[in-house]
Amino acid sequence: MTRGHRWMASLSVFGLGLAAMMSSGAGAVAGAGEFTRPPYAGAYEPQGVDERGLWMQLDEYERRFRDSPAILRDETLTAYVHGILCRTVGADRCGAMRTYIVRDESFNASMAPNGLMVVHTGLLARVHSEAELAAVLGHEFAHFERRHSLGRFRKGRSTADALAWISLAGAVSRTSFASTGNSLIIGFVSYGRDQESEADALSAQLVRASPYRLRASGIWKRLVDEQDALRKERGLRKIKHLTPGLLDSHPPEMQRFAFFAKQEGEAGDVGEDRRDPYKEATAPYLRDLFDPLIKGNDFAGADYVIRSRGDALGWDAQLYFLRGELYRLRGNPRDLATARGFFQQAVVQPLAPPETWRGLGLCAMRLGDRTDGQASLAEYLKRSPNAGDAAAIRLLVEN
Ligand SMILES: [Zn+2]
Repeated sequence: MTRGHRWMASLSVFGLGLAAMMSSGAGAVAGAGEFTRPPYAGAYEPQGVDERGLWMQLDEYERRFRDSPAILRDETLTAYVHGILCRTVGADRCGAMRTYIVRDESFNASMAPNGLMVVHTGLLARVHSEAELAAVLGHEFAHFERRHSLGRFRKGRSTADALAWISLAGAVSRTSFASTGNSLIIGFVSYGRDQESEADALSAQLVRASPYRLRASGIWKRLVDEQDALRKERGLRKIKHLTPGLLDSHPPEMQRFAFFAKQEGEAGDVGEDRRDPYKEATAPYLRDLFDPLIKGNDFAGADYVIRSRGDALGWDAQLYFLRGELYRLRGNPRDLATARGFFQQAVVQPLAPPETWRGLGLCAMRLGDRTDGQASLAEYLKRSPNAGDAAAIRLLVEN
């Protein structure tokens, strides 16, 4: 029998919620016993011909999706994220889910009705603890458990319409996804305000019943700050707008901040944040998590997200390097001096990536400091003799 067929729920872009929790028998301490997860009714089975047809097509989409180059294939990180979902919603509920991490700079996660969960690298880059991630996954899981998407489907859409809707939604997703040609399953579905509120409430309940501390308001606060940073930058440069249609379906971020701040006050300090384990588990993947942000077009947002992680969890060589790359790639004259400063901070830390010396060298050369630049580039070649750009760099060193 097929397990885990529920309806899906896709995501939520800036609208995530929070929540989460618990499970794994070990050590789950339900806050004062007041909060428990709702009883689990078992995996949802599609009803009727239309739903069964839809499920079959979703399963087929997942088979194609699994081969997508957008997926970050790392068993350790994937198992880590999946484990947080299990602790959040319980082993019974998570047993039917499959987790995939996708390289995409947006703050997002989604769950398809057949049990496929997708977590974007942009989400992992922006949260600072297991408790925060639990809150976001719990919100998505709440849409899934309540079958919000299926409700929309039942309201009159045919299977074909629903699939067209899923594909269309997929087309809205960022290019990294669309470029795979397998963009369908993970659409950005807009939920109604009532559904968002319901998902927030259920996520708070799940988290409070789990081993995690309810800590979601900080995420909302930072998303607001990030959007402010982007708006400021765009006001100056008059670039495109954020996707307003998606944001409109969610309660305003500040309302959600207020909702969770109140919930957190009531919940108190029960439960664990697990910030250090989160920092340690994600540190080896900073490049994977931040590269899509750095290569995107949202300089101010990317800079905010990097700074925010550094300020919260500490700066290491990799994070200094990434911030240096962000400035170097934008490449305004003032950016080069700034980038050089970050690279200099990176090289005095343990485990600076070899590309730090490339960055130092290229910035120095462009700033007119040839001797210093060539020395740094030579150091890069020494540390990474087989780099893909070694031949080009060698030309700069030898001329
Ligand atoms: Zn939502």
